[in-house]
Amino acid sequence: MPANKTYDVIVVGCGSVGNPTAYHLAEAGMKVLVLDRRPAAGQGDNKAAIGGVRATHSDPGKISTCLESIDIISNWEEKHGFDVGWKSGGYCLPVYDESIEKSLKDLIPYQKKFGLDIKWVGPEEIQEIVPGVNPVGLRGGTYSPGDGQVSSILLPVAFQREAMKHGAEYRFNEKVIGYLKEGDRVTGVKTDKGSYSAEWVVLAAGADAAEHSELLGIDIPVTPDSHEAGISAPIEHFLEPLVVDLRPGPEGKTANFYFGQNREGQIIFCYTPKELFIGTNRESISEFLPVLAGRMITLIPSFKNLLIRRIWRGCYPMTPDGIPIIDFAKGLEGLILAVGMCGQGLMLGPGAGKNIASMIVNGKHCIPDEAQNCFRYDRDYKGKEALK
Ligand SMILES: Cc1cc2nc3c(=O)[nH]c(=O)nc-3n(C[C@H](O)[C@H](O)[C@H](O)COP(=O)(O)OP(=O)(O)OC[C@H]3O[C@@H](n4cnc5c(N)ncnc54)[C@H](O)[C@@H]3O)c2cc1C
Repeated sequence: MPANKTYDVIVVGCGSVGNPTAYHLAEAGMKVLVLDRRPAAGQGDNKAAIGGVRATHSDPGKISTCLESIDIISNWEEKHGFDVGWKSGGYCLPVYDESIEKSLKDLIPYQKKFGLDIKWVGPEEIQEIVPGVNPVGLRGGTYSPGDGQVSSILLPVAFQREAMKHGAEYRFNEKVIGYLKEGDRVTGVKTDKGSYSAEWVVLAAGADAAEHSELLGIDIPVTPDSHEAGISAPIEHFLEPLVVDLRPGPEGKTANFYFGQNREGQIIFCYTPKELFIGTNRESISEFLPVLAGRMITLIPSFKNLLIRRIWRGCYPMTPDGIPIIDFAKGLEGLILAVGMCGQGLMLGPGAGKNIASMIVNGKHCIPDEAQNCFRYDRDYKGKEALK
């Protein structure tokens, strides 16, 4: 079928990564088309995110990319006059366990090497940073003040508005069902409504990425697993940072859990189940709230009076090693993979989008080589990211 329109770049997926990518490309003067099977920007797993934005990772790729994201998000309102709900309260990881203390302390020099502002603080300071935190057995923790929170509802609107000002076209309710190819080159996409050609295609299809393996004839190692989150009614503002408790839960069902207080005063929270729920089931399950409530009250006893307003479920698009793939698709010219964002797509998206735009416009990534190497498509996927 002949393509009915030609672009410089087609972005498949208008989520946490595709939408900022479109913005950076359009800002650089590219003619961009964004396609999404859903009805609006950020309606995939983007809107499931609780808004945490940290450069506190163990992997140089994620640290460098998220530092870029923080720079973009924290300056967005000043630059574009649009409030994205940014709150710069940092991230705090209170520690009660000797082995967790050791692993976090061991990471600090490495994190600093890639530009992260992070320090180990004693138990008294943790109690100032996280008022009301349970002091029994508290050993101290890490604090990275440059991290923060953003609204996963406002951010997609912000990126789409600016991208459109620079001429980007958005087509919603339109599903990519195939790719146009000439030999080993991807030359466009076929959708359920037509076909479009382009110099470049960026695949940013989130939890659906693996479905494109067959369409493209390459293996895309992304497996979604589902996670639940919730939000309370607003309470008086008392908490600045987003807090992560890395301990496994006493009930045997949870790994880490994390929460913060958004600008509206609501407590927003999430946990990682010990046994992952592989697949794309987005139905809430009954065990989430009782289990999570137990953990929250143990860490901050005054949460016993919290009124929970809503819970929801979404997917982490996981790679085997917990690190995204942001790379040229070797063997297929004209295609960039921007998939496997795991539990950090919202925070990675703005920086990843800037990097992808640089790969297309300048032919080269804009983060350090050591960081970019982490995102290679042809790596062995045997590593493990400690703070995924
Ligand atoms: C409970 C929970 C809490 C989370 N909290 C955080 C957090 O605090 N911070 C953080 O950074 N991350 C968080 N995440 C993770 C984050 O939500 C994901 O990593 C991120 O949304 C993935 O971004 P993405 O762009 O890859 O996918 P998405 O945002 O899902 O975008 C992919 C888009 O591609 C579209 N698409 C797929 N296939 C096609 C096709 N064939 N044709 C057209 N369109 C297509 C989809 O409709 C979708 O809109 C959380 C996730 C969950 C579930």
